[in-house]
Amino acid sequence: MPRDAAQRAQYLQALGIEQWQLRRAPPLSDAWQQLATEVRGCVRCGLHATRTQTVFGVGNLRAELLVVGEAPGADEDRQGEPFVGRAGQLLNSMLRAMRAPRDTVYIANLLKCRPPANRDPAPEEVACCQPYLQRQIELLGPRLMLAVGRIAAQNLLATDTPIGKLRGVVHRYGASGTPLIVTYHPAYLLRSPTEKRKSWVDLRLVCGELARLRALPRSA
Ligand code: URA
Repeated sequence: MPRDAAQRAQYLQALGIEQWQLRRAPPLSDAWQQLATEVRGCVRCGLHATRTQTVFGVGNLRAELLVVGEAPGADEDRQGEPFVGRAGQLLNSMLRAMRAPRDTVYIANLLKCRPPANRDPAPEEVACCQPYLQRQIELLGPRLMLAVGRIAAQNLLATDTPIGKLRGVVHRYGASGTPLIVTYHPAYLLRSPTEKRKSWVDLRLVCGELARLRALPRSA
């Protein structure tokens, strides 16, 4: 304790004034570490039995933009990182086109484990995994979320509206009301390259919304 602080403490004690000590929240990285450890050991649903490893998420812990995909595929299951396969390469190009390269954003999936044979996630698997993504969102506090693909978009927005109708507007996610934009999944764009034009429109919406949000205080 610095000398004048010690003197002040002595003085207050002599006057019988109880001093309160400000307890700081644990550093952010501890909370992330704790969550990552929890995810690594997760056995909440049957997918733990077939995974090679969990795929937690990757990126900048101060990112303004959170990209949310569906679930790890074979490459991700092997490497432990989201979007590292062919779809990931395209996602990287999309991010670069937005001037928001991969290392400046945070990337996560709805599911932390690969569904066998890349089948769609079952509703109970999404329900089991949802608290992990929810906690990631709380820790990150992104300005904006980008849901890539129908499964991510519909689950995050709790709707069965087709993806084509979810595009083009800024939604609000959950209780935090975090702005959320929807675009096509890069794997779909690889199969249907003519849809890339529409996806570019979505990405421009992301850039515009980010610029608008940056002008506001971070919590707004
Ligand atoms: N598709 C996804 O939705 N997520 C990944 O991590 C990889 C492919």
